[in-house]
Amino acid sequence: MNTPLTPWSIDDAENTYHVKRWGNGYFEIGASGDIHVIPRYDQPDLKINLREVVEEINTSGIQLPVVVRFHDILRSQVELLNETFRDTIRAANYEGQYFGVFPVKVNQMREVIEEIVDAGSRYNYGLEAGSKPELIAALAYNTNKNSLTVLNGYKDEEYLRLALLGLKIDRNMIIVIEKYSELIKLIELSKKLNVKPVIGLRVKMMVKGRGKWEHSSGERAKFGLSIAEILNAVAYLEAEGLTECIKLLHFHIGSQLTDIRAIKEAVQEASLIYSKLVKQGVPIEYVDVGGGLAIDYDGSQSTNDSSCNYSLSEYVSDIVYGFKQNCDLESVPHPHLVSESGRAITAHHSCVITNVIGEIHPSGTQYSTRKSTGEHIIVSNIRELEQDLLDSEQNDNHQEIYNDVVQLKSQAMQAFKLGIFTLDELAKVETMYWRILNLIQQQMQEVDFIPEDLNDISQMLSSQYLANFSVFQSAADSWAIDQVLPIIPISRLNEKPSKLCSIVDITCDSDGKIDKFIGQESIADNIPMHALKADEDYFIGLFLTGAYQDVMGDMHNLFGRLNEVHIVSYDDDPKDFYIEEVVKGSSVDNVLSTMQYTPAIMAQVIKKDIDVQIARGKIKPREGVNLIDFYEDCLDGYTYLKQ
Ligand SMILES: *Cc1c(COP(=O)(O)O)cnc(C)c1O
Repeated sequence: MNTPLTPWSIDDAENTYHVKRWGNGYFEIGASGDIHVIPRYDQPDLKINLREVVEEINTSGIQLPVVVRFHDILRSQVELLNETFRDTIRAANYEGQYFGVFPVKVNQMREVIEEIVDAGSRYNYGLEAGSKPELIAALAYNTNKNSLTVLNGYKDEEYLRLALLGLKIDRNMIIVIEKYSELIKLIELSKKLNVKPVIGLRVKMMVKGRGKWEHSSGERAKFGLSIAEILNAVAYLEAEGLTECIKLLHFHIGSQLTDIRAIKEAVQEASLIYSKLVKQGVPIEYVDVGGGLAIDYDGSQSTNDSSCNYSLSEYVSDIVYGFKQNCDLESVPHPHLVSESGRAITAHHSCVITNVIGEIHPSGTQYSTRKSTGEHIIVSNIRELEQDLLDSEQNDNHQEIYNDVVQLKSQAMQAFKLGIFTLDELAKVETMYWRILNLIQQQMQEVDFIPEDLNDISQMLSSQYLANFSVFQSAADSWAIDQVLPIIPISRLNEKPSKLCSIVDITCDSDGKIDKFIGQESIADNIPMHALKADEDYFIGLFLTGAYQDVMGDMHNLFGRLNEVHIVSYDDDPKDFYIEEVVKGSSVDNVLSTMQYTPAIMAQVIKKDIDVQIARGKIKPREGVNLIDFYEDCLDGYTYLKQ
């Protein structure tokens, strides 16, 4: 379509891929046409070239696809969230403090949890657990005596015992009651074990979040206590002489809250409930506003499902000033504030880098369309259409030719079904049909006005780039809930892209594709990419995968977990970074073992059958040894495609 010489600037690339809009300051397109990562929010001059990261990954012998984790981004986000709360609290003369907790379910990787706890230690930033395994991890990793461990999720006796164990070793465990019966169980156990529980009450809020997770609140919400249940709980604890154990009021109206108005309304509702309970003598010290702080994945700053219409500082201000105002009006103390922001802490810090291994193009195949004697009239008609297009320099009847060729193609299909059209004729029609669409597309580039139907042609002619990854492993929400994740080439951005593409993965599943991209105005079906070169890898990055995507992947087609590379920025290094750690992804042996296979026995079966063939003389002994070695090497190897 376009020659590489067409003028094209980095600004044009930015206008095509909108990196600044979704990058949150962490990503930009460098002058060399490579994506640069700026991992520290307070060091804007420290830049890491992502192409150089991939080169180092390659020379270290690590196979793609890889998850690249930027630990500095993780730390930056922890600091930004905490600093923003601190600054806002100071500016507002708010009398409580901020005690954030990271919800472990958003990214349970040990290295992620360790980094967050470490970066958060000077802010007394804690952890939130929503299940027994997460609690067991939180107990061992949140050892800071001054931070909170907030316990959500449904709880059995073991879960409650673990929480009480935490209290015994001086951890600030807050056991949030999601369901009335948990309270009865908890009080029984705490008497038996002689530990005073620290209780949070999760309230079922009336206000609904907006977006994909709006069912997290409202009367039919899965979690939380109604107002009647809250009052019953208070009365019950009073009767037990345990009122002083109620320390926290909790709500969570959903993840990825796209509209700031939902947050304002929730703060209003929760601060009133808090105030009334305090006036009634319930000694609540903390209000936990849950998660929901959204990420602008598509960069549109809108209430789209994959976006949000507010910034971090607006979110924090609405919470701090909202509580201050309502508490002052009600003359109750300002509570300490807790948030369980997970997505916002981790989304930016990791991305998936992979290579495009091929192109699937509907019009890619050529077949001889030479006229044969006695050919069907439909074939001759299409040939004439093509000739018309080729003959005329200036065509103004593209729409007519398009209508005709679409109709002829459908007639050809019918004729074939009736048995009066040969396979050879069908192949000719197909070939000429795509050639005609290509010609129309080319000629349309010179005209100003493009009729609507003809706009679809570029969609029909777009390529599918086959990328070495699994959507089910690396972009679960893209498949499950149509989440938009930025996906762009990581280099050659100083070169004008020459084709429109969508992305397909290597699973044997037609759902294994990405066809939602950040477009000019709205979400687009495809994205401009560069033509593949025979002698050069084409790397693409799937960004903002650090929240949920990193850990929700499944075993579809047994691809399993990706190789991981942890990058740490280092100013004194010529490239400003080093690879701190490599975590090997799944080997074939790993994924098969997970599914109850025994790889060693499988290798023996193959060896036995090879030996039989050797005995029969069908396989030479030396070749037999190589074959079994090869099978065993593949068992040890990575599950994804080799470059
Ligand atoms: C999932 C969840 C969170 C995390 O929400 P984000 O939107 O990712 O910040 C926080 N609290 C509770 C109770 C949750 O279930």
